Amino acid sequence: MSLVKKVFLTDIAKGMSLTLKTMFTKPVTRQYPTEERIAEPGYRGLHALLRDEEGNEKCIGCVLCAAACPSRCIEIYTSETENHKKVVDVYEINLLRCVFCGFCVEACPVEALAMTQEYELACYDRECGLMTKEKLLEVGDRNQDKPMFLGRPD
Ligand code: SF4
Ligand code: SF4
Repeated sequence: MSLVKKVFLTDIAKGMSLTLKTMFTKPVTRQYPTEERIAEPGYRGLHALLRDEEGNEKCIGCVLCAAACPSRCIEIYTSETENHKKVVDVYEINLLRCVFCGFCVEACPVEALAMTQEYELACYDRECGLMTKEKLLEVGDRNQDKPMFLGRPD
């Protein structure tokens, strides 16, 4: 710190002037939950499984998302039909262990998995933190026209 700064306490004066300048401006505090929070583009909220134009599930059960997950919170079980078509029987994300890093979404080769801007995830039992395939598809359906994180630049 220079001598001038030390003697005249310029940093304190600067801080005080900033305080005075902002003292009479409108506060920016958002009154949640009365006011809805605006999620920024690329926000990584609740996961969703997506469908194609025909309404079929996009997920091909490749398990790349589960392999990329650092928390090991994705479980996938698949089976094969008589025509050798792969079927995703179980797809579960345990949100209680999820760190919302988005690696699973980035790893998906067919954009079947996304992260929505839904952020109100608090609940009262452990069961509601377990997102089954059906629940994830429901999230995808209700967010299909809204912005979602798909693991690539917008
Ligand atoms: S967001 Fe991260 S921690 Fe959560 S399921 Fe995806 S990869 Fe796992
Ligand atoms: S969500 Fe994507 S990465 Fe995960 S199993 Fe389905 S297709 Fe593969």
